[in-house]
Amino acid sequence: KRLILVGPPGSGKGTQSPIIKDEYCLCHLATGDMLRSAVAAKTPLGVKAKEAMEKGELVSDDLVVGIIDEALKKPSCQKGFILDGFPRTVVQAQKLDEMLQNRGVKVDKVLNFAIDDSILEERITGRWIHPSSGRSYHTKFAPPKVPGVDDVTGEPLIQRKDDTAAVLKSRLEAFHKQTEPVIDYYSKKGVVANLPAEKPPKEVTVEVQKVLS
Ligand code: ADP
Ligand code: ADP
Ligand code: ADP
Repeated sequence: KRLILVGPPGSGKGTQSPIIKDEYCLCHLATGDMLRSAVAAKTPLGVKAKEAMEKGELVSDDLVVGIIDEALKKPSCQKGFILDGFPRTVVQAQKLDEMLQNRGVKVDKVLNFAIDDSILEERITGRWIHPSSGRSYHTKFAPPKVPGVDDVTGEPLIQRKDDTAAVLKSRLEAFHKQTEPVIDYYSKKGVVANLPAEKPPKEVTVEVQKVLS
């Protein structure tokens, strides 16, 4: 399967991805995770991306399209993929169409994590992540077994610098202005499935499974 996950920050994309990925043996490409590791490693890409990320603005289309084009070449992505956080602009969606056309494949489903903005601040400010795997936890909704520690590796969890109420505002603005048109773009192609993303994680998983079965 070739899937795209779209939704505002904190809507649960990163939480559902590993479950879908394991069930269907797909590769999981999260542009946010890839950009954060480039920033941490201070690669040329990271240096270019850092400022926009810290302000809660989108990184330039060319940078993210380049990362996805490279990543889609991985052997693990040949059977199918989950794009988590990409495309976030209509230009990115058009570029993705070109890339997939060249590979003779197309998108099967776009999962739209539909949720009201008012729920997101609590989700974002309570989020803790395990940077190297991208796993996310929540102090209230999904606490790790030991506070501040990843369940799987025992490594420390961190809070993202952009997971503040103030930066969330900019990220939501970017979502409504630049990413909602992407949902319309795919609606016209008839591939969008809306998910009730405000429900508890397990219920969202059940809805995802219904859509994909
Ligand atoms: P996204 O990848 O869309 O930004 P995450 O999956 O990282 O969102 O979820 C944001 C935060 O909310 C995390 O701390 C996560 O543990 C928590 N969370 C995810 N899904 C739910 C849910 N359905 N209900 C409550 N909290 C959730
Ligand atoms: P969230 O999990 O909260 O939805 P992400 O981790 O996907 O956020 O993205 C974090 C930041 O990385 C974004 O605010 C943006 O600056 C940058 N970013 C990620 N994906 C893209 C993309 N497809 N296009 C432009 N910028 C992106
Ligand atoms: P600086 O050296 O300027 O303090 P940081 O090392 O704090 O830069 O990294 C800049 C950005 O990358 C911040 O938004 C931070 O949250 C994020 N970040 C740093 N290390 C990681 C990591 N290992 N995984 C994910 N994000 C990271």
